[in-house]
Amino acid sequence: MLPTIAIVGRPNVGKSTLFNVLTKSRDALVAEQAGLTRDRKIGRGKIGSMPYLLVDTGGLTDASDGIATRITQQALQAIQEADRVLFVVDGREGLTAIDEMIAQKLRGFNTPIHLVINKTEGMQSELVNVDFHRLGFNPVHSISASHQRGVEALMESVLEDF
Ligand code: GDP
Ligand code: MG
Repeated sequence: MLPTIAIVGRPNVGKSTLFNVLTKSRDALVAEQAGLTRDRKIGRGKIGSMPYLLVDTGGLTDASDGIATRITQQALQAIQEADRVLFVVDGREGLTAIDEMIAQKLRGFNTPIHLVINKTEGMQSELVNVDFHRLGFNPVHSISASHQRGVEALMESVLEDF
């Protein structure tokens, strides 16, 4: 079994952008579960000679309609099945109530969580990180998915124990 890494977080923080950066140019799409493409998408990535599976999930919210509930269930299942979790937050918007809600959910799992502060291009990392450290996750990584900054170092850290 390849190491499996789930990407979770609220909508619009850059989960799919990160997924695409990590899986692109590898003919990466392993599976798009029929009818569930917005919920869970599995791709293949590689760091050095180490291949891994990446699972992109739909955004977690506090909404409780049918679609939101299904997306949340899919994300929780992805977390359950993963070896590592990337909890992505938006460094520009800062910590939100939804982030706190997701953090609360994540604390219920034994899976190691990496907090990933995205959209930090052009920002001073000391300033960006202060609020997010309150969530209590360790390690914390600052990246820019769209500018492809810090992404390599992130995956080296995530996979170092394999
Ligand atoms: P998702 O809903 O979490 O999957 O987020 P998406 O990957 O769809 O990205 C949401 C928006 O954030 C898009 O407009 C992206 O272009 C933008 N975005 C993603 N990564 C970055 C980043 O590193 N920096 C900035 N400034 N924008 C980003
Ligand atoms: Mg997405």
